[in-house]
Amino acid sequence: MKIAVVSDVHANLAALQAVLADIDAVAPGAAIWHTGDVVGYNAEPNEVVALLRERGATGVMGNHDAAVLGELEVKWFNPAAAAAVKWTATHLTPENATWLHALPKISEMGAATLVHASVLKPLEEYVIESASARENLLSLSTPVLFHGHTHVPAYWALRGNQAASVVIDGRAQPLLSPALINVGSVGQPRDGDVRASWVLWDRTDDGSAIGALGTVQWRRVAYDVARTQALVRAAGLPEFLAERLAEGH
Ligand code: ZN
Repeated sequence: MKIAVVSDVHANLAALQAVLADIDAVAPGAAIWHTGDVVGYNAEPNEVVALLRERGATGVMGNHDAAVLGELEVKWFNPAAAAAVKWTATHLTPENATWLHALPKISEMGAATLVHASVLKPLEEYVIESASARENLLSLSTPVLFHGHTHVPAYWALRGNQAASVVIDGRAQPLLSPALINVGSVGQPRDGDVRASWVLWDRTDDGSAIGALGTVQWRRVAYDVARTQALVRAAGLPEFLAERLAEGH
């Protein structure tokens, strides 16, 4: 079984299309899961929701999705993010808003939990250091968690009683248990690499010595950044949101 996990697409259609093409190339027929923040920041929320719906993606709600729906106050957002939330709220079709509204905040899919930010605070917590990673690893009710929110790929596992950061090398790596797998961001990467990020979870039983959970592989995909920037500018969204795409932060 192969599963493609995407996160933080943020209304960036060109990035999502590039990622889906990569998924179709390396894992045709893979199930598609997402860990929220489908909309916000960029200018094609309806197109992105439509494409995820068309591809049968299942997933959870992010903080930007919640804010667009009026379920989270925009006072928690920086001014550029808040401006994009307000713009999106006025442009999202009622049908797509209904689809977003139906997303749960946490979802268990067999051996995996899907959540946007963290198990402890599904819409809020940035898991960026070992203390919060440890707390979340110990709170998991499934072997693995897939999440996003920070827009930075990360892999946390327990070593002894402590959370340790596993180096991501771009190859298929054994999936440990328990583990926190931050799949990075499709639509607004912030790790200095402008390419869209996604994770392939390969549970194919090939009889090899890899564990029962199979492997995870972070993949990076180039996309037409200039196209997304042009649409952000044409929509009148803050210039910073266009610029950051070219810098990967
Ligand atoms: Zn996000």
